Amino acid sequence: MDKKSTILIIEDDQYISNFIAVSLEKEKYRVVSGKSATEGLFLFSSHQPDIILLDLGLPDRDGLEVIGELRKKSEVPILVVSARGQEKEKIEALDMGVNDYITKPFHMGELMARIRVAERNLLKYAHEKYETAFSAGRLTVDYDKRRVTLSDQEIHLTPIEYKLLLLLINNRGKVLTHNYILKHVWGYESTDTQNVRVYMANLRRKIEEKTASPRYILTEVGVGYRFSDDFDLTE
Ligand code: CA
Repeated sequence: MDKKSTILIIEDDQYISNFIAVSLEKEKYRVVSGKSATEGLFLFSSHQPDIILLDLGLPDRDGLEVIGELRKKSEVPILVVSARGQEKEKIEALDMGVNDYITKPFHMGELMARIRVAERNLLKYAHEKYETAFSAGRLTVDYDKRRVTLSDQEIHLTPIEYKLLLLLINNRGKVLTHNYILKHVWGYESTDTQNVRVYMANLRRKIEEKTASPRYILTEVGVGYRFSDDFDLTE
């Protein structure tokens, strides 16, 4: 990529905000920072950032409200920065469709890695609109024919399994909560996520070589799943 992304930091802790900004600028990212929800939302409109780093604990408004506002108008990748003990808010944020989360205190290297994942997502979406198939390692999905193959052998998925697989592929690299998956595949929200687990296990049995060490559908313990966005899924 010739042009580095513009990243909006919404964080009221000046020390953390500066630290992140300096580190990102060192990597040649463009950075804009807001220290409240109001300022952040304003900067989002005025600067059209590529990625947002959002602190959940903001002085003026709830971070979850900010996500709601942002998602009304944009699918911009959002990385939530949560404090320890904000487990519930973190899951809610993921339910609302944020891409990823990182818990304070974190290592800059880890944050950078997650930003690169978000960037890869951006690149992917840019050209994926025109794609008619997905392919990674042994797995190929032909969208037009609704045909899924594993090492050129066709595998049969139920309509729900197929829908589930597409949701995962379209969101690869992104953490999807059980609730998010329920809402987008089954069309409702519930605390009973047993269905998701059962269908996911079936899907894994069909597409993973070793279900105990999956390469495509990764488990995010206590949260949900993430489809690998590692492009080197070679044999
Ligand atoms: Ca804060």
